[in-house]
Amino acid sequence: MIRKTVTHKFVHYIPEVLEEGVVYVSIEYATAVHRCCCGCASEVVTPLSPADWKLTFDGVTITLFPSIGNWSFLCQSHYWIERNNVVPARRWSSKEIGGSRVEGRRVKNEYYGERYPDGSRVLAHDAANEDDEHEPE
Ligand SMILES: [Zn+2]
Repeated sequence: MIRKTVTHKFVHYIPEVLEEGVVYVSIEYATAVHRCCCGCASEVVTPLSPADWKLTFDGVTITLFPSIGNWSFLCQSHYWIERNNVVPARRWSSKEIGGSRVEGRRVKNEYYGERYPDGSRVLAHDAANEDDEHEPE
């Protein structure tokens, strides 16, 4: 993880060109955007909603919850943004990623679907593994 801290900017629109190390927060559009803190510069979009990320602003710093997992990027980085600090988190296994993402779930279902063509068994398999696949604390 190249970057240890970020700053934040409250903006109306997310700018076209993102500065590295800046988390842009648009309250109007309920979205935060920043460049990946590993240094790969990929654009990380974190929608703010009860089902997505929560942003805490303590008057000085911001915190994003839950962690940022960049599974769709080559870097596969995983970190927290906590009071403007970038806190590295452990990498997830592909099994965990698969269990936590709709896209991953689809891929997993295709995978098991190949091995178990019976659709009901695919569902049973998923239900049986649900408890193992929590978001990290
Ligand atoms: Zn990255």
